[in-house]
Amino acid sequence: MITTFGTPQPLHALCLAPHPDDAEIGAGGTLAQLARLGRPVGILELSRGEQGTLGTPEIRALECVRAGEILGLSWRGQLGLPDGDLGDTPEAAHALAAVLRLVRPQLLFVPHYADRHPDHVGSYQLAKRALHLAALAKAEVPGSSHRAARVLLYQGNAPIQPNVLVDIEQDLITWEAAIRAHASQFSGRAVSETVTPEVIERRKARLMYWGTFAGRRFCEAFESESPLLLAPQSL
Ligand SMILES: [Zn+2]
Repeated sequence: MITTFGTPQPLHALCLAPHPDDAEIGAGGTLAQLARLGRPVGILELSRGEQGTLGTPEIRALECVRAGEILGLSWRGQLGLPDGDLGDTPEAAHALAAVLRLVRPQLLFVPHYADRHPDHVGSYQLAKRALHLAALAKAEVPGSSHRAARVLLYQGNAPIQPNVLVDIEQDLITWEAAIRAHASQFSGRAVSETVTPEVIERRKARLMYWGTFAGRRFCEAFESESPLLLAPQSL
């Protein structure tokens, strides 16, 4: 793992990104909001996106730094796993568990298991294993054991059934600016069914769709696999 932005430190929230722009697209509004509220927030890319049709790993690394500045991240790291081959392997799980022990997130954002991209599904499976390993006191992983208090799955390129919505209207401009920082990926070229000239408009439409269910203009949608414990005053 290499640090690409900021300093490794105990984080309130960490977002795992299979490829360099996934965190911004799926959870960027919530990450920006947490950072704006003064919480230390980080992103860990699992791969350098070297199999992507557009851009190069070097260009994408620079774009990640710019997006990190825009989001107000405290830390950003790169795990350097093979793009196109992300999944639950012992080596990858140990490497990710070591990062979890290093930056000790209370809240972890993970790609949703329902996705058309095998790397996103593989990242979910890898995260499950790494979370377990990081919490096991006797696991042969550097650092002391750590268990994230909450895990939220963020939407990729498939429908999900969310049970957590976050109003991101105040951070919508930051969300879009952070995505556009990945300029090589959003050049206006049609690359696939999901990356088309209107890709950001489609994503914004999705935020509006989820907002419908909370009476808000723009919401990011997440799934928690365990029940949420809410304080009575927040009901
Ligand atoms: Zn991706």
